[in-house]
Amino acid sequence: MLAFVLAALVHADVLVSAGHEGRPASCARFPQHRCNLGAAGEREWTPIVADEVTRVLRAHGVSVVREPADFEGDYAVDMAVFIHFDGIVPACSSGASIGYHHAADARAAALWRALYAGIFPFRFMPDNFTVGLRDYYAFRQVDASDGALVLELGEISCPPQRTWLATRLDDVAALIAYDISRTIGKGDVPLPAKFAGRR
Ligand SMILES: [Zn+2]
Repeated sequence: MLAFVLAALVHADVLVSAGHEGRPASCARFPQHRCNLGAAGEREWTPIVADEVTRVLRAHGVSVVREPADFEGDYAVDMAVFIHFDGIVPACSSGASIGYHHAADARAAALWRALYAGIFPFRFMPDNFTVGLRDYYAFRQVDASDGALVLELGEISCPPQRTWLATRLDDVAALIAYDISRTIGKGDVPLPAKFAGRR
């Protein structure tokens, strides 16, 4: 029994999950998760960002578990990020935001907010402004010593935000990789050059 418990806990530096990816196919296997398919277009974008975050971190020697929306098991990591874009009616009433469940996650959230708010030229909502942010279903599967964060990267249902994001998914991903690297103190990922002059 002990061996089973140890085997079930996966260790890595970082876990990266793409919001809504793999749904609706995975919904039947995870009836305890709300089968939220995301905003229009969101499921196409979250894997692009998650893949690029993963690629950059691995290129700098950081071990990454890359997961879709629904996954098995429990993970002990330095940091976990769950990539999303917001969708809301009426359009353009939201923006970027961050979700987390534990007080210990607040440092990581503050670091990302300060970084992304300096670059994202639209609204930044208060941390944990929805239940889905503060009680994200996958938080219970990760023990993240430096923070487990839902990163809503902007409101995909707002045309100006969508347009801004559409040509910058890889750049935003590189920024997330930089943020994770400095927050966990591993990998030394540089600040993307195109953002270096903006800060
Ligand atoms: Zn989402």
